[in-house]
Amino acid sequence: MRAVITGGAGFLGSHLCDQMVERGWEVVCFDNLITGAEANIQHLMKNPRFRFAHQDVSQSIEISGPVDAVLHFASPASPDDYLKFPIETLKVGSLGTLNALELARAKKCRFLMASTSECYGDPEVSPQVETYWGHVNSIGPRSVYDEAKRFSEALTMAYHRAHGVETRIVRIFNTYGPRMRLNDGRALPNFLYQALSGQPITVYGDGKQTRSFCYVSDLIEGILRLLDSQERLPVNIGNPQEITILEFAERVRELTGNGVQIVFRPLPQDDPKRRCPDIAKARKLLGWEPRVELQEGLKLTLAYFEKRMAEERAKSGSQRGN
Ligand code: UDP
Repeated sequence: MRAVITGGAGFLGSHLCDQMVERGWEVVCFDNLITGAEANIQHLMKNPRFRFAHQDVSQSIEISGPVDAVLHFASPASPDDYLKFPIETLKVGSLGTLNALELARAKKCRFLMASTSECYGDPEVSPQVETYWGHVNSIGPRSVYDEAKRFSEALTMAYHRAHGVETRIVRIFNTYGPRMRLNDGRALPNFLYQALSGQPITVYGDGKQTRSFCYVSDLIEGILRLLDSQERLPVNIGNPQEITILEFAERVRELTGNGVQIVFRPLPQDDPKRRCPDIAKARKLLGWEPRVELQEGLKLTLAYFEKRMAEERAKSGSQRGN
């Protein structure tokens, strides 16, 4: 069995590559590395079942021979990143999705699209159930991501209806774990990096907005179960344990044991006030639910951040020494 994973050098994509290789699949990973990193897949490079193609999937995806599944994960996903790369984000969520779907159609194989809780925008219902259509600002700063993903969902359903492609759509809620970039700008990397380097933790707004954080191994397990299922309509995968951002910042501070200050900064425009997945569908359909408790997941992520930060320090020390 052979899978194409777009965005395979990113945070989620690289964990997906690991799990597919582990399952005995051959994996071809496409990534243009604008937000992904070769370091995330370095350990797979010597594996004969793994191949990396440094390529922008918005331009083209070319691959000879049979393919059994296309998993489309390429996209900047942190608000900071998609604000930095607005056009690239729109392109990969439109042209990239088109190229990935065309590949699945040509190879007559299954297609899974990484969608997002951002499809619900700043939701007026909570928890968010898959049948909710969302509340999205189509011209705001976050629209480059939200609308690209909504377009991707529409295109995926169209390929299913018009061409009979076997499609899956996963709506991914906030996820965390090893291989998040130290400086990707999201809440957890920022909080961990700040606390570990003795800087104040920056909470945006009053910190009363909520998120629900899912550990990466739980998320990947849910995605693979969806891939194996027969469900064509979107399925939420995320952890329904909702927490305010201020409380989250306090939890991270406690965990690091560094008594740094918490400071408040302006809330970015259109920042969703609440986000919590209704996972009844995933529970029933896939027999899936998250297992990793926040405390446990945070500890595993902290260990990764400590290691990476020590490596960064060693690198800058040796550069200074040269
Ligand atoms: N956030 C924060 N401080 C930071 C980074 C993010 O308070 O340094 C807030 C952000 O405003 C949002 C929440 O944390 O309300 C989650 O932000 P993130 O960028 O992780 O992802 P989002 O869920 O907004 O896509």
